[in-house]
Amino acid sequence: MFEQLKTLPQDPILGLMKTFREDPRTDKVDLGVGVYRDEAGATPIMAAVATAQERLLATETTKAYIGPAGAEGFNRLIGQLLLGGNHPALKDGRVNVVQTPGGCGALRMAAEFLKLCKADTTVWVSTPTWANHIPLLGGAGLSIREYPYLDKATLSVDFDAMMACLEQADAGDVVLLHGCCHNPSGADLDADQWSAITDLVERKGLLPFIDIAYQGLGEGLDQDALGVRLMAERLPEVIVASSCSKNFGLYRERTGALMLISANAQQGLAATSQLLSAIRSHYSMPPSHGAAVVEMILDTPELMQQWQQELGAMCSRILELRAALSQALAPAGDFSFIERQRGMFSFLGISPQQVQILREEFGIYMLDSSRINIAGLSATTLPQVATALQEVLG
Ligand code: PMP
Repeated sequence: MFEQLKTLPQDPILGLMKTFREDPRTDKVDLGVGVYRDEAGATPIMAAVATAQERLLATETTKAYIGPAGAEGFNRLIGQLLLGGNHPALKDGRVNVVQTPGGCGALRMAAEFLKLCKADTTVWVSTPTWANHIPLLGGAGLSIREYPYLDKATLSVDFDAMMACLEQADAGDVVLLHGCCHNPSGADLDADQWSAITDLVERKGLLPFIDIAYQGLGEGLDQDALGVRLMAERLPEVIVASSCSKNFGLYRERTGALMLISANAQQGLAATSQLLSAIRSHYSMPPSHGAAVVEMILDTPELMQQWQQELGAMCSRILELRAALSQALAPAGDFSFIERQRGMFSFLGISPQQVQILREEFGIYMLDSSRINIAGLSATTLPQVATALQEVLG
């Protein structure tokens, strides 16, 4: 059975990481990998997470199964974090949340759920989108279509083109939107655009599917959830995949959630029962540890406050780096879009050849698409990157 299988080429990001590790230069800079980095280049365990883990270790009494939906407390608190405590959808009993293995688990189970709703579901994704969206959703058997999103010349949202394209979608089609901090472009929808797309989705009978993997890292916990909250209020059905990987720094603990907003409580129960049966037949139930940590933080005022402070500091660091980089690059051209964008990622908008020169001659690593992780910069490396970029563009 195995002998006919060919070895697949290495994933480009993993390949880039390997070349970086093997690069002997001491002043090399990694802007490739998609994890948050502090000023020292580390991805530390957040203090609130460390405390919650210690308490958990001291108090937990069992490792018995947790069930396909995961922890009830985690699900309730994540619903509140996404929607805000007083959201009408919560009051109306239209919200069901299940714990999933990371945001990826939520995306994949949403796709499996959509297949149960309609076997030949089409999902529209932005061009560009996070590369993993395609295998996660397409691999479940959904048909993928693309809508234009980024204007390559200005690196901002081409909203007219996006709206014009989505006019072609059929009732029952699904539209995947990034809740905030669009990966890979950093270009987000503003409040008016969220409102306009909500009108379009409503008028055409489309189903919005919001992937929110960076809540709190764009502008703040509430601001970043604006689109989710608006759609959950105005539309009968919305699907939301959320991740605790970045905002709690729990990457390897595989902690995420899938939220279904339904037209009413009864339909919500039916839909959730279908989702849970899909979960049962895929991985049975999610891992417990990361979600237990998140639940303890969100449920303990003192830890909640500490976590919000830490997350706020991460968010401010990214915003400051964005402002500093666009200023430092001003002599080389108009990079003001970097300051306007949100989250960890932006495209520099340079060619693959220029990316290669930066890597080979200057030891500065980024994806061939020129996507950089802003959080990979520091006070030391930012001027170094700016100088190298000016030379390459010069
Ligand atoms: N969606 C987007 C847009 C992402 O960037 C990521 C993480 N890179 C995820 C979802 C899911 O992340 P995870 O499965 O690690 O929680």
